[in-house]
Amino acid sequence: MSRTPLIAGNWKMYKTGLQAVETARKLSHLCSDVQNVEVLIAPPFLCIPLVAASLKNSKIKIGAQNLYFEKQGAYTGEISADMLKAADVEYVIIGHSERRQYFRETDTSVCRKIKAAIDEGLKPILCIGESETQRDEGKTFLTLDKQVSDGLKGFGLDELKDLVIAYEPVWAIGTGKTANIDQVKQVHQFLRSMLEKLFSKTLAAQTRILYGGSVKPENAKDLMGIEDVDGALVGGASLDADKFINIIKYNK
Ligand code: PEP
Repeated sequence: MSRTPLIAGNWKMYKTGLQAVETARKLSHLCSDVQNVEVLIAPPFLCIPLVAASLKNSKIKIGAQNLYFEKQGAYTGEISADMLKAADVEYVIIGHSERRQYFRETDTSVCRKIKAAIDEGLKPILCIGESETQRDEGKTFLTLDKQVSDGLKGFGLDELKDLVIAYEPVWAIGTGKTANIDQVKQVHQFLRSMLEKLFSKTLAAQTRILYGGSVKPENAKDLMGIEDVDGALVGGASLDADKFINIIKYNK
């Protein structure tokens, strides 16, 4: 089964509305000849409506970096799935390691957020990854197993048809360190076999598994060339349209 690669930019807490629109417009222009790759940017919440308006008629899709699992209510500072949907958001990043680390997100809250996203027709990007200590202690696969099993607990096959998984070793995020080819290959194979074991062969074959962690124009081609790697989740290098386009066009 062929899977269209997805190259997603996570802009984290960078850019004001005007800066975000400027980068999005530039990227859209640079992407005009891009084919067979889905391109996504996830700006800060506040920039989403402006960026979405500036990307009408563009191939670039809009993602959010988080959501809250309740539908509505007295949850000061939170954003719900239907608010995102109404703002033309298509994908939502869930369980990024920075959210797990600084905002105490757990596999249980991640699971509830995935449910909220799916119920609203948003495509979830489930982020998982081991810390440096977990890798050093030989607990990489144990950690990933738990994050996937608990994060996807209780879902039916139909619900997960648009699921994307992003494998992001925590020690590689924003550090300039990248997992080596063998490490990425092993993990992606492991994740695909987990999907087969937990759900089905078809779901395993159709689910895109992205790599994230210091992806740059210089290493994109090697990383994207690995079997079972179906794209990238890019932080730092996605903030600059000139850099990001060279990741998007990795196969040129
Ligand atoms: C990320 O934030 O998901 C990420 C991978 O960041 P960076 O590319 O900067 O390592």
